Amino acid sequence: MTDLASTNAKRQRVVAIGIDGGSFRVLRPWMAAGYLPNFARIAREGAVGTLMSTIPPLTPPAFVSSMTGKNPGKHNIFDFVRVPRDGYRRSVINSTHVRGNKLWTILNHYGRKAGIVHFPASYPPEHIDGFIVGGILTPKGVDSHTWPVELADELRREIPGYRIYRGRQHLQGDLDGYLASLIETTQVHATEALYLMEKKEWDFFFLMFKYTDGAKHIYWKFWDKEHPDYPGPNPYEDAILQVYREVDTYLGKLLDRLDDDTTLLVYSDHGFMSVHTFIHLQNWLAREGFLTIKTDEQRKMRTLMAMHHYGFRRDNLVGWLKRHRLGWFPKMFPNAVKDKVPRTRLGMNEFARFIDWKQTRAYQLAESGRGINLHIKGREPHGCVPADGPEYESLRSEIMYRLRDLRDPKTGETVVAEMWTKEEVYSGPYLRNAPDILIELKKGYCFAEGFGKDVFVKAAREPFDKSANHELEGVLFARGPHIRQGVELEPTDVIDIAPTVLYAMGLPVQGTMDGRALTELFDPDHVARLRSRSTRWTSRPTRKTAMTTPRTKSAVSRTS
Ligand SMILES: [Zn+2]
Repeated sequence: MTDLASTNAKRQRVVAIGIDGGSFRVLRPWMAAGYLPNFARIAREGAVGTLMSTIPPLTPPAFVSSMTGKNPGKHNIFDFVRVPRDGYRRSVINSTHVRGNKLWTILNHYGRKAGIVHFPASYPPEHIDGFIVGGILTPKGVDSHTWPVELADELRREIPGYRIYRGRQHLQGDLDGYLASLIETTQVHATEALYLMEKKEWDFFFLMFKYTDGAKHIYWKFWDKEHPDYPGPNPYEDAILQVYREVDTYLGKLLDRLDDDTTLLVYSDHGFMSVHTFIHLQNWLAREGFLTIKTDEQRKMRTLMAMHHYGFRRDNLVGWLKRHRLGWFPKMFPNAVKDKVPRTRLGMNEFARFIDWKQTRAYQLAESGRGINLHIKGREPHGCVPADGPEYESLRSEIMYRLRDLRDPKTGETVVAEMWTKEEVYSGPYLRNAPDILIELKKGYCFAEGFGKDVFVKAAREPFDKSANHELEGVLFARGPHIRQGVELEPTDVIDIAPTVLYAMGLPVQGTMDGRALTELFDPDHVARLRSRSTRWTSRPTRKTAMTTPRTKSAVSRTS
């Protein structure tokens, strides 16, 4: 890194490390117990606080908001998937769907170089001044997932075991193999990041650690003694911790290498919480008459669900075949035959053909988006609800009214914590692509994909079912030349990251951003100096729009 330090000596640089699903529910106790010395060191030598996610608290909208400083209504990313255009199969987002300037475009404009590693939906990679390595949602098997193009070959050559994704051991129900793969892939990404930081030029460096999220979805019930499915002492008790330890080791190596002019931000896209119950919103929409299943397809749909329920599924079949050295067998059949075998998770791709779309007024695009789409004329292929006006409004109010009274039959309690219309949460030119209703469930509940046996289903029924899911309260750590030391911050927002990076680099915050530079992170003297030096320091652009997360949601619940 020394060669870099000299070329960029006069420039303020920033490193941002994204911890997917980073949560104080695990970090606080493990930092206090001394298990994560480098997270603890950053907190001690810098500032730390809750970082509120977007609604929904989900990787693509939250990380894109962090790197645009804008709410999803302006950058167009609301979920892993987009509103269907041609048919009703899943349409996964990529970098071409992101609207507005990303932080690296702005930095390039000011002559600063950016290195972006494993940012979600960064494929196809933009041709920036700097480098990009594709992150999640990069299609498998492409070889042009980097910019410059030849960087992919360099990484394959220089980084032992180089890969973007973890293995697929979950398909064989292999909890040990899956954990080993999460740990190894995290190690590979750490090695890759250190290599790129040392060998390449950058003023801003971003790296995302993905598997801090995957580990919590699956292994939470093995660690959290309060979880209803905690099995007692078990071999996976510190599975999540093992992945965090890899990240902590990386942070230690990074801290050793950072020079005095570099600011470090470590932040999450969303937090994490235990879940005990899944809610199949599609079942509820069908039960309430907002969504219609074709009469002549009902039997086929029940058969598919029964096959799935009793384990006649691709994951189990592939696992069984592999164990009997018959892994080659499925290759003998065309996709049309393979499609008859239910996938691990049944979602829109499997159910779309059973739905009578002409008679359907509302549906859930994907559980991850935590919303309901009205079936809008001119937006969805067979949309039948006007995009606005009294019919739209009354349908939306009716759904929200009935949903407010959705009760868990086990407790008799309502399950919706908060609900918003899309205009209450987002603003901007892409508002029409957002789900029309956004829902935050009470703690312990999460939506499940597609249709289920019932509206309410017990979570974590199988080893690879989620036992934890995303919550709004994420984390922010900051350390650097002008960052205050040992400070606990009031909750801030994920959209504040991009303006804060610009501020730390001495660049003006863009007026079109919804976020603000978090000046409270910095020494008051430094802030005062910047303020007096020039009028172009606008740390707080006029906020004309709704926040991604209403401030009232900032109440933090922590286990410590
Ligand atoms: Zn997740």
